[in-house]
Amino acid sequence: MEEKSVNSSPYKAFSGCGSKPLKGILEVICGPMFSGKSEELIRRLRRAKIAQQKVISFNPHSDTRTALHTIASHNGASLEAITISDPLTIPIHIAHDIEVIGIDEVQFFSPEIINVVFDLVEQGKRVIVTGLNLDFRGVPFGTIPTFMAIADTVTKLSAICIVCGADAYLTQRIVNGTPARYDDAIVKPGAQEAYQARCRSCHIIDKKPVWQKTL
Ligand code: ADP
Ligand code: ZN
Repeated sequence: MEEKSVNSSPYKAFSGCGSKPLKGILEVICGPMFSGKSEELIRRLRRAKIAQQKVISFNPHSDTRTALHTIASHNGASLEAITISDPLTIPIHIAHDIEVIGIDEVQFFSPEIINVVFDLVEQGKRVIVTGLNLDFRGVPFGTIPTFMAIADTVTKLSAICIVCGADAYLTQRIVNGTPARYDDAIVKPGAQEAYQARCRSCHIIDKKPVWQKTL
């Protein structure tokens, strides 16, 4: 039944081999803030809907920048989503006929999200996840490097550097008007925080990552 629905999909990338059950596909969309990750996720999910596929999407509760039950792009586009905290609740929402699953801001979920997504792909689903590949220091962010490694496709987007207009692959964190320091707490109570897309030349951080410590 499921195999038939996947077979009838216009999306050709599902991997099948003779009579073996078809597996799904994992697509990762990454990049800094404002690079259009949510915009691209919304675009892919809308196209799947046009293709008459059953689509469901999720976003994390901890992403306080967006409204509940909505994947929202800074360009104004939005799509209905189920807002959850615990990634283990995702499978409860996945009916047998769901073909495409979108998960926004995947870096905010606990690492259990990796197994959840892997199992869905094994079951033949097309799963599209978005996330920040680097944190404000320029250090690989949580589970995203693992997702990038196991994905079938990785789309790495750039934003526009707000200082010089070049392509931006980094996110600058500003706390109380000045660039955040490498050792700053990830969440600073009471601080006025802002994030900006910046190129490598315009990104300001006081220390170079100690790579061994990031692994
Ligand atoms: P992300 O999910 O990667 O944070 P969004 O999809 O939310 O990205 O936002 C992308 C949109 O943000 C762009 O289409 C554009 O309208 C807007 N935008 C605002 N600032 C920038 C910037 N510095 N570079 C590129 N796009 C920007
Ligand atoms: Zn720049």
